[in-house]
Amino acid sequence: MTFQQSLDRYPLAEVETRIAAKRPADVEAALAAAQLGLDDFMALLSPAAAAYLEPLAQRAHRLTVQRFGKTILMYAPLYLSNECTNGCRYCGFNARNTVPRRTLALDEIAAEAQVLHERGFRHLLLVTGEAPQAADTDYLAAAVQRIRQLFSSISIEVYPLDEAGYRQVIAAGVDGLTIYQETYDRALYAEMHPFGRKRDFDFRLRAPEYAAAAGMRRIGVGALLGLGKFRVEAFCTGLHALHLARHCWRTHLTVSFPRLRPADGGFQPLNPVTDRDFVQLICALRLLLPDAGLVMSTRESAQLRDNLLPLGITQMSAGSCTSPGGYAEQDDSGRQFVIDDDRTPAEVEAMLRRRGYDPVWKDWDTAFHA
Ligand code: SF4
Repeated sequence: MTFQQSLDRYPLAEVETRIAAKRPADVEAALAAAQLGLDDFMALLSPAAAAYLEPLAQRAHRLTVQRFGKTILMYAPLYLSNECTNGCRYCGFNARNTVPRRTLALDEIAAEAQVLHERGFRHLLLVTGEAPQAADTDYLAAAVQRIRQLFSSISIEVYPLDEAGYRQVIAAGVDGLTIYQETYDRALYAEMHPFGRKRDFDFRLRAPEYAAAAGMRRIGVGALLGLGKFRVEAFCTGLHALHLARHCWRTHLTVSFPRLRPADGGFQPLNPVTDRDFVQLICALRLLLPDAGLVMSTRESAQLRDNLLPLGITQMSAGSCTSPGGYAEQDDSGRQFVIDDDRTPAEVEAMLRRRGYDPVWKDWDTAFHA
């Protein structure tokens, strides 16, 4: 069964009603469950669970320490291109926005990669918009081949590919994929993506399965928080991750919770997610998915990131720049969105050590695949 078929079994209005109907007794039963079912997960996402944040956080912390210890994998995004043919209403790279456009040449990519390598990063996330004429899979493969010696793991956050496309970039040295569905609500998805190839909801939904079939080692999913109703989006994200864990068991799963940030174009969140909602969502996902990596980017403030650490976070970016060429040239015009935590990687590392965490710069080597 594909995830598309699984998702179709959960009409979103019905999911919302079922979550809203959960009572304190359901939350307490979920908190006591050795292994969470989907009904338990709904209970932990419900308004009733908002009164149980403390025990929820404690359980999430215990589970995370059991499975991961007190380690945080460090990574950095490298923006290769901000050219884009899509019309995502919430994004600064939207084709109708007038940000300066740029696709890095291989020498410029090497310069960016060198800066990040010198800052200590060995896990890299390559990011592009969706403009296949500017940044097709041949370009991605060439970029990866140029810089792969500097990094032990290279992931991509680009447009969805088919299985052959993923095989091509994996052969070049990619081992991880991040792809957010943005929203699991088809009608809202159509409204948020008025033109461009990204309008194809189903192709995007299938992409993680294509990547897994192609042999992708690490796959990350998530919803863009602030678009749909967060309880429903969180439920669908959990459902998606569970499906992948069961059907693509060779792949390590990660889940991210990107909250909408100010971007060029001025889009305002349709359903803002408060910090308390955010904590509830992260803890509920940790309890549902004890073995999944949970990723926190610099979209969130330094203070919130520090406070969320014990709840289940296992990966963090630091010192991020969201514009192509921004590291080597120290210029963030042409950025995708404004980051909130602007501490340097060394400052984040020091904070982690102060709090008793081990920052991990490398947890994988491509030689393991040989
Ligand atoms: S979210 Fe991605 S696809 Fe959409 S406009 Fe931004 S860069 Fe393009």
